[in-house]
Amino acid sequence: MTTPTEQDPDLAWLDDATRRFAQTEVLPFLSDWEDAGEFPRTLYRRAADLGWLAMGYPEALGGTPCSWQLRNALVIALARQTGSGGLLASLFSHNIGLPPLVRHGSAALQQEVVPAVLRGEKIAALAITEPGGGSDVASLRTTARLEGDAYVLNGEKVFITSGMRADWLTVAVRTDPQNKGPGGISMLLVPGDSPGLQRTALRKMGWHCSDTAQLHFDEVRVPARFLIGQEGAGFKMIMGNFNGERLSMAAMALGFAECCFDEALAWARQRKTFGQALVNHQVVRHKLVDMKMRLESTRAWVQAVTVQADDGVMDADWVAQVCLLKNHATQTMQFCADQAVQILGGMGFMRGTQSERIYREVKVMMIGGGAEEIMKELAARQLGL
Ligand SMILES: Cc1cc2nc3c(=O)[nH]c(=O)nc-3n(C[C@H](O)[C@H](O)[C@H](O)COP(=O)(O)OP(=O)(O)OC[C@H]3O[C@@H](n4cnc5c(N)ncnc54)[C@H](O)[C@@H]3O)c2cc1C
Repeated sequence: MTTPTEQDPDLAWLDDATRRFAQTEVLPFLSDWEDAGEFPRTLYRRAADLGWLAMGYPEALGGTPCSWQLRNALVIALARQTGSGGLLASLFSHNIGLPPLVRHGSAALQQEVVPAVLRGEKIAALAITEPGGGSDVASLRTTARLEGDAYVLNGEKVFITSGMRADWLTVAVRTDPQNKGPGGISMLLVPGDSPGLQRTALRKMGWHCSDTAQLHFDEVRVPARFLIGQEGAGFKMIMGNFNGERLSMAAMALGFAECCFDEALAWARQRKTFGQALVNHQVVRHKLVDMKMRLESTRAWVQAVTVQADDGVMDADWVAQVCLLKNHATQTMQFCADQAVQILGGMGFMRGTQSERIYREVKVMMIGGGAEEIMKELAARQLGL
């Protein structure tokens, strides 16, 4: 299996760093974190110290500008080494929460919020989905009315990653009650400790160590200067933000699929049935080959779309590629998780194996950030079908 190192020798340090991080700072504690429903806040500081939280952000905000190729190489390597979607989802929730601010917010607001998040001192999250629906973003109902120098929020958000302990929430709100469509939507920053904001933890199929919340806004007042960009520009920001999220999710899915392959291969080499190692049974070997075939195509496609992003090729065709790639990569993850659990046999059904956890984390990858059906529709539109 190719690793980032083999693809690009300059990335050897990334393989080493993520392996060390996983083996010493994650894997020995992961089961406990999954039971607790969160990982320690100190891990954000640790990831910041390693330079991982700041990747891709402007220097002026404490970031380290870098290519999409490097960012995705990190995501793939971390996913492969830790095998924990919950860890990646919460540790990097700022990568969906901050971009609207970094792209469209005032310099003063950026300075107030971003550097502390990149230092791992504060947590940022994104809140778009509502109990009434997530796919149809344009019809969201949480409102924010301007009263003097404050916006007053009322409404509900659901399934929000890092929602229980985020210090900053980037919230999609309807600022124009007359406009029920995309033009009435704006983006507001909401401090996590705002009076009137109630957060409820949600129990899930997987991603157990990620804190996921339902948020209830009851007359929550935030300063008007926390508006990101212009009123009514929120929908476009959300759509632009989705491209990066979906590309990262494809990279994550690839890493988790590789993690399943690694575990299944190691098991198949040491486990013996009928006098020989599992891997020597042709049927088992072919399962591994079928996994490898999908892994290789996914890796090549992730690489191609990522290079296009670095080259600034982000046209309609690229958006379609991102949608199709997210579906392809998550299907690869689904296939590999299924095959790995089968190869592990009863052990694959036991808590504590990577494949068991990843098997439970497949569906959120196929639904979150845009469900498979929505990806197909969006791709069809972009391709003019
Ligand atoms: C663990 C987890 C973490 C999440 N984190 C966040 C977060 O941090 N921030 C955030 O804002 N959201 C978050 N989400 C929400 C996620 O983005 C939504 O769940 C997703 O967009 C789908 O929205 P929905 O669940 O409301 O499903 P719905 O919109 O109700 O759709 C249900 C299903 O119907 C199908 N469907 C919907 N519309 C169509 C259509 N037009 N054609 C065909 N089929 C259709 C799809 O299969 C879809 O899965 C998270 C979700 C989960 C599970």
